[in-house]
Amino acid sequence: MDTKDLPILRVRWQLQFTKCSLKCPYCIAEWTKRPVNFDPERFNRIIDRLLEQPYRLVMRLGVEGEIFLSPHIQDGVIRLSHHPKVDGVSFSTNLMASDDKVKAFLDKADTSKIGIGATIHDTQITDEQKEDFFKRVEMVQKRGVLIYVGYVAKPDRFDYMREYKERLDAIGVPFLPNEYNGAFEHVPYPEAYTAEEREFLKSHFFADHYYRQLVEREVPRGKPCLAGHRYIYLGSDGRILRCGNERHLKWNLTQKVAWRVKEKWAEDMQKKRVKKREMGNILTDDLVLSDKPTLCPHDSCTCGNETQAIYSVGRDYHRTRTLRVIYSKADAAKMEEKYPNLKPLENDSCSLA
Ligand code: SF4
Ligand code: SF4
Repeated sequence: MDTKDLPILRVRWQLQFTKCSLKCPYCIAEWTKRPVNFDPERFNRIIDRLLEQPYRLVMRLGVEGEIFLSPHIQDGVIRLSHHPKVDGVSFSTNLMASDDKVKAFLDKADTSKIGIGATIHDTQITDEQKEDFFKRVEMVQKRGVLIYVGYVAKPDRFDYMREYKERLDAIGVPFLPNEYNGAFEHVPYPEAYTAEEREFLKSHFFADHYYRQLVEREVPRGKPCLAGHRYIYLGSDGRILRCGNERHLKWNLTQKVAWRVKEKWAEDMQKKRVKKREMGNILTDDLVLSDKPTLCPHDSCTCGNETQAIYSVGRDYHRTRTLRVIYSKADAAKMEEKYPNLKPLENDSCSLA
């Protein structure tokens, strides 16, 4: 069978390379508090196993730190990018590495398959570093990478969002905000966004689907999803889950009762429930996927890389080689003109008419 006829499997793979060049106080990877659990040999074996599967791959590596501090992860991405079974491989970075370092990586990779999410940590860097960041984004874009810039929509940073979107639109780079998730001036977000702020966010989100899932928190429960069918989550140790939400199951009644007696008892029950739902380990087991989309059992789907797995996304949006980037089919011609590195994947089995 021609590689191009293979169905596409999308994979989010967490690596726990918890080392970074910045120390953002809001870091969700909490890299300063967690040990590095990255084993280069295991990393390469997982890549070998993925490439053995009868699928074309669109992968997102969740580094949990900074990729430009790890030659091993960069080499893995370069290798994946040249493989005929790989349609896309993306990762996020703070893009604070030197131009030379970034260029050396791009020189070795097939940039037509690379996706990068460059997050701008503007409260942690100087104005000069910020300007260097934008120049580097443009350099990467010109090399053909489907790069986007990510930003957290904190309620007091909307003016910056406006400015960044304009700057990035001018160089053809998508700007992809994420909702602010947490307390700001003692009120919880995203719930506390006002109607006016919501309007602003709606007009600054790249795809309406993301606005609905991340800001409005639409409930996915019961919706058909590619999770476990044409999408999987991989842990750094190779364990396979339908999606990342499977790690955080809602406590059932028995657990709630058990917790009153002994906290640890309830937590052990939780571990067992999660384990039971795992789909094996890519290093040791056959990858057995569901033969059709599955129904979502969760109440929220707010991971930027996972929410694209909702089945109906394939009807209204083009998915791309960068897992986080989808764009409206209805506006496709306009979007592709404005953002030149956007394009749908060829023969995408998850695209719906
Ligand atoms: S750049 Fe990212 S990984 Fe590094 S400290 Fe900031 S939020 Fe954490
Ligand atoms: S909709 Fe989201 S949370 Fe639900 S199964 Fe799919 S990826 Fe997981």
